[in-house]
Amino acid sequence: MNMYAEILVEIKSKHTDKTFTYHIPEYLVSDVLIGKRVVVPFGRQTLEGYVLNILDHSDIDTKDLIEVLDEEPVLNEEMLDLGREMSRLTLSSLSACYGAMLPKALKAKHGTQINKKYITFLKLTKSKEDILDNVSSSSQKDVINLFEDNLPLKKTIANKVSASSVKTLLKKGYLIEVEEEEYRYQLKKEEQEEEKILNPEQQEAVDAIVSSFESSNTFLLHGVTGSGKTEVYLQVIKKVLEQEKTALVLVPEISLTPQLVARFNKRFPGIIAVLHSGLSDAERYDEWRKILKGEASIVIGARSAVFSPLKNIGVIIIDEEHSESYKQENNPRYHATLMAKIRSNTHHCPLVLGSATPTLSTMARALKKRYIYLPLTKRANDAILPNIEIVDMAEEVKNRHPILSRELECKIIEKLNKNEQVMLLLNRRGHSTTITCSSCGFTYRCPHCDITLTYHKSSKNLRCHYCGYTKYIDEYCPKCHEKALNYYGLGTEKLEEFIENAFPRARVIRMDADATTRKGMYEKITTDFYEHKYDILLGTQMISKGLDFPNVTLVGILNADASLNIPDYRSNERTYALLSQASGRAGRNKTPGEVILQTFYPDNFILKCVKENDYMKFFKYEMNIRKTLKYPPFYFLTILKIKSKDYKEASNEAKKAKEFLESKLDKTSIILGPATASMFVVNNVYHFELLIKYRFDENLIPTLKELDELILLNSKVQLDIDFLD
Ligand code: ADP
Ligand code: ZN
Repeated sequence: MNMYAEILVEIKSKHTDKTFTYHIPEYLVSDVLIGKRVVVPFGRQTLEGYVLNILDHSDIDTKDLIEVLDEEPVLNEEMLDLGREMSRLTLSSLSACYGAMLPKALKAKHGTQINKKYITFLKLTKSKEDILDNVSSSSQKDVINLFEDNLPLKKTIANKVSASSVKTLLKKGYLIEVEEEEYRYQLKKEEQEEEKILNPEQQEAVDAIVSSFESSNTFLLHGVTGSGKTEVYLQVIKKVLEQEKTALVLVPEISLTPQLVARFNKRFPGIIAVLHSGLSDAERYDEWRKILKGEASIVIGARSAVFSPLKNIGVIIIDEEHSESYKQENNPRYHATLMAKIRSNTHHCPLVLGSATPTLSTMARALKKRYIYLPLTKRANDAILPNIEIVDMAEEVKNRHPILSRELECKIIEKLNKNEQVMLLLNRRGHSTTITCSSCGFTYRCPHCDITLTYHKSSKNLRCHYCGYTKYIDEYCPKCHEKALNYYGLGTEKLEEFIENAFPRARVIRMDADATTRKGMYEKITTDFYEHKYDILLGTQMISKGLDFPNVTLVGILNADASLNIPDYRSNERTYALLSQASGRAGRNKTPGEVILQTFYPDNFILKCVKENDYMKFFKYEMNIRKTLKYPPFYFLTILKIKSKDYKEASNEAKKAKEFLESKLDKTSIILGPATASMFVVNNVYHFELLIKYRFDENLIPTLKELDELILLNSKVQLDIDFLD
């Protein structure tokens, strides 16, 4: 009988999906399975694709499929369905969705060849004692003694003791060689750690989640920094493992530190797979297959780990659920939490969202009892929350303290004298953010974007933080040729210089995107600071997340209001989260911590809520604003970006899009725009935005799909659709 396969072919630069039917040659019939990658002829080329279906007849003339690439399907049935759902929810192509779900090595048409790594092991052919009785040479005995309990041993290790003895032992038949796969990513062996005795709130949280196993309830674990959320996760996972199920743990990329992984590894040694962007493609490939083969019961990973092919999931945990990193900012624009919800439904397992500062949407759902609310109100190890002070920088500028307030300066000296550590947060990298000529008023701007260039002293150039444009800087103004360039605006590099001058005896280290471009630098800086090789750590928000340095007793936030002024409806929410997170770095141990917020808006309500550590006060205030302005969680929001290198095309297409939407959408939906986006020109591309606010509109998805297809007809214009909540 003739068999056929339906293949989703990866056609480069096509944004629509195409499936094609191919005939399966007889010798491949047993090899072709749904979810595997295959090679097919396509015109004059050959392309890779995924098998989506197998048929026993075909009405059309078909070509033969060429080759099967996988031994096992790379996409199981759950993942095939999840990809379809993602494609429906994000309006992205199915092949883009499958691409986003798979590690590079397993995507169709990636073009790079990544193989398994095999290494040679030695095995004993008889018991250790037998062999030791039979050999007389002491170096041969040394080699045999390396073997633990007759387990295989890496040949390279034995060779280090005596390569010639290994040769002899092989020749005599006491040893044999075996080739085995070795996973390239290995966690350190850790001493197993005892679990902690939970406090009543933690116990209540664990009990509530455990009694909900088999249901797909969503929980909000709302606990201040250091309240013991991670301990709750660990104890829930223990119960999951007792039921022979698996656990999926998501954390923001930046919080996925060696310290965090070690905490899990100490509790559950040997069964953890880790997925994050710090791994090489080969390491990711190995971790992925470890999961696929059922050799890992716990997966810890960043956003895309939500797609790890775990079977029989017993709990899904999303730590720091408010983190923006869970949303992918290019196609497919999926949110990991939504994907996790779908998987929680499929696996009938609870989903736990943990945060000190939940998003408004999450908190609103908890208050409406759509999520089960689990509060942790105290720090777990008796540490008290830090004391937060707000300093008015307008006063400080008058007193010639524009960078460090007198208060912060005094506190730094005090802490340094006590041999305690200090963290300083400044959310702007580079040296100076504006270079202006005092003679003619010229300011360096990016020629491709709508933004000033930042001076980077370490690389002696000007850089655009949007498109990466760089330019060498001259001493003379390029316009009037006077030697009158002034450097304004404070970035982390300038702050570093300033701090080194102000506290010459302190050991200072900087952490930001520029200081951590080399692989392993992030780990090195955090470990060194942890071991108190430095007294002051300064950096961008990179230093504010999840890090736990017991000896830090002072956190200074230099521009606490910077993020308030970003034109985005979430800027208050993000500021509250950032400042609370950063404050939470102080006093995590016995010595109480202190936090100083420097601002030009000392009366700002959000800052006051941070100072009082009153999330609910912030929540109520912000919910009122959202209600008045018809923003999420009261309305759903979809942002359409219409982009083109041609200003006129973008502008026209945006106007046409608005008319189209108005004719199709429900009358209760609000369509705003077109307006120029907050970054109007990026890399010479003009951005126009349309906002759709709606409560329920069954026409929305079909209408946007239609619009997408209409705009595709104009090759000069691109449409991005972003669903927010
Ligand atoms: P979070 O994840 O909420 O920031 P952690 O789980 O990291 O909090 O806990 C903060 C600190 O308190 C850690 O050092 C942890 O070991 C400790 N801890 C957590 N739970 C307990 C407990 N029940 N008893 C004692 N110490 C605890
Ligand atoms: Zn630019």
